[in-house]
Amino acid sequence: MSTCLSVVVQTPAHSAIAGLLSYQSELSLAPGTLVRVPLGKRETLGVVWDAAPTDAISLAGVDIRPISGVLHGIEPLNAHWRQLVSFAASYYQRSLGEVALAALPPQLRDLTPTQVGRRLKRGSTGLAGDAASVVVAQTLTAEQSEVLRRFNSEAGPFLLFGATGSGKTEVYLQAAQELLERNPAAQALVMVPEINLTPQLERRFSERFVGQYGEDSVVSMHSGMTPAQRLKSWLAAHQGQARIVLGTRMAVFASLPTLRLIVVDEEHDPSYKSQEGARYSARDLAVYRSQLESEGAAPGQTCRVLLASATPSMESWHHSRAAALGGRYQRLLMPSRVGAAAGGVGALPAVRLVDMSLQPKKTVLSPPLLEAIGQRIARGEQSMIFLNRRGYAPVLQCGSCDWKSECPHCSAYRVFHKIDRTLRCHHCGFTERVPRACPSCGDLDIAPVGRGTERLEEHLGELLVGIQRPDGTPVSIARIDADSTRLKGALQQQLAQVHSGAVDVLVGTQMIAKGHDFRNITLVAAINPDGALFSCDFRAAERLFSLLMQAAGRAGRDATQGQQSEMWIQTLHAKHSLFAALKRHDFASFAEQQLKEREQAAMPPFSFQALVRAEARSQDVAQGFLQAASVAAADVADFARVTLYPPVPMSIQRVANVERAQMLVESASRVALQRFLAGWHNVLQDTRRLPTSKGLIRWAVDVDPLAI
Ligand code: ADP
Ligand code: ZN
Ligand code: ZN
Repeated sequence: MSTCLSVVVQTPAHSAIAGLLSYQSELSLAPGTLVRVPLGKRETLGVVWDAAPTDAISLAGVDIRPISGVLHGIEPLNAHWRQLVSFAASYYQRSLGEVALAALPPQLRDLTPTQVGRRLKRGSTGLAGDAASVVVAQTLTAEQSEVLRRFNSEAGPFLLFGATGSGKTEVYLQAAQELLERNPAAQALVMVPEINLTPQLERRFSERFVGQYGEDSVVSMHSGMTPAQRLKSWLAAHQGQARIVLGTRMAVFASLPTLRLIVVDEEHDPSYKSQEGARYSARDLAVYRSQLESEGAAPGQTCRVLLASATPSMESWHHSRAAALGGRYQRLLMPSRVGAAAGGVGALPAVRLVDMSLQPKKTVLSPPLLEAIGQRIARGEQSMIFLNRRGYAPVLQCGSCDWKSECPHCSAYRVFHKIDRTLRCHHCGFTERVPRACPSCGDLDIAPVGRGTERLEEHLGELLVGIQRPDGTPVSIARIDADSTRLKGALQQQLAQVHSGAVDVLVGTQMIAKGHDFRNITLVAAINPDGALFSCDFRAAERLFSLLMQAAGRAGRDATQGQQSEMWIQTLHAKHSLFAALKRHDFASFAEQQLKEREQAAMPPFSFQALVRAEARSQDVAQGFLQAASVAAADVADFARVTLYPPVPMSIQRVANVERAQMLVESASRVALQRFLAGWHNVLQDTRRLPTSKGLIRWAVDVDPLAI
């Protein structure tokens, strides 16, 4: 007698089978059990999904294959985990199989049950760290205490609006500590946006917890780990040894059977939204997961979620309005930097605007800024200058004909990198050596146009040539961007150099504006942030404001000599309200203004959006597919409650010889949009099969897209 099981397996994004297949088994297996099953000629990992029918059914005459093995020793994935995965698949319009299998560590797919058994037995080494030194908790500031008191006594979700350097991390540490002391099984998940930020966080959490709770009590999860490390962390979390999981967005799917606390640090960061596969928002799933884990839980056993940022997303800000206005989150405030005495040590930097319309045209670094940098160098302090464009120059141009360094495969220019004399496409990677003469007319007069970090570094070197450090040695300039940090370990090495004081001026992209705790930087400058002020993306201003606030937050975090740190901004629009709010460090008024504009224009968070993207050999086919699916949408549920905009080419229309188009779907109701998308999915699939869709390469839906 056999039991019939439905098993979730890896399936392509839009395949007709959602990923649930039937298999038979001699054993009755609980939902969530990990199994090996035959699929075509292969064998693959699967998760038993539905409860087996109570009566074993007769399988005579039905071609249902038996499962090939069970991963005994790994407890079944619990109902909450399965619900989280189902929800994510349906909300983000992907197949269950794709989402479920992507949420498991890749190595689990390749190991036989015997190999897994061996892994489970193997002794653990835990995180590299100094387990011997237990760092005790700091005495909380009044603001931190109040935040923790409310966090522990109210229900949440919570949005912690705390200035950079206000001690948010200490709040996470103590919230986790209280939880672990109170509940001997409880687990906490702490997420950060970028891998680069995990080592710092790992250090702080290991120092605090490993001594008391053991080496396996703190584990990490991010894509920079080897498959073996990822499996090990995953197993530790799944089996409950790991009490604290630190990770990037993928960690939201970790199996944590006794999850009681989720922290989303820098909750506004776009990296929480996945840009491939299922385009999920780990922040939004974290909020959903905390509700899910709390359902039916006894008081004191619920799962709390804390989103935190110095510049929250408009969505979270909106959700944390007063309850009377419809807010659903509790807003917690920590406006002061730790140790801040008015205007003195630890205070927020003064913001200085340089009106570039008063400077000679083509000025890169205005004289007052240059002078301020020079003064810092002479005093032995550091400056950080950021420019959001890497390479030497974004375009190379011929002086006598129209030639520009276009990429032959993309609708974009190739960037000039002087260091290795290449032209590189930042979209498809196509790279060539810089031509000696214009490829079109042969003229030798080809020159860089515009400027990236490489050129800025060079330019600064020329401008600061006469300036000396206090010990009389020449100034030292370093650059940190995706190019300078390509090699493994390069970033850590470069950051260490900055920390050691060997660098006077640090040039870089937004990479340096995020999270890093630079102690001796007393000047931060954004030399050309204007692009975002008039962007067609309605979120550009929000992103710019948060980037500048974060960058400003790098300055003078530990300015022990009491120097006043400064944030310099060069702009052609010195009167812009964004800069006025920034000058006052007034996120709240900036956010209110943004939300008012969004409400008037019925944009998120006052409406809900999805984007359908199509890629094809020709723009006609890509747009034609979207157009046809749009026309055929009329019969879909809730069609009347959504707006379908006409298909348009994407802002970078062609990448690697693939034409790309997109179409926006919008609704005033999230529920209506979801119902429509669910029904429309089949229409899109059918449209794809039409002869007119010949040449279509792929299509995908992005729910709650971050970039339009
Ligand atoms: P945030 O995460 O809000 O930017 P951090 O948690 O990194 O801030 O704290 C900033 C600095 O202040 C860190 O060096 C931290 O060790 C220190 N700090 C935090 N809380 C306290 C406290 N209660 N007493 C003393 N120092 C603190
Ligand atoms: Zn030419
Ligand atoms: Zn290209």
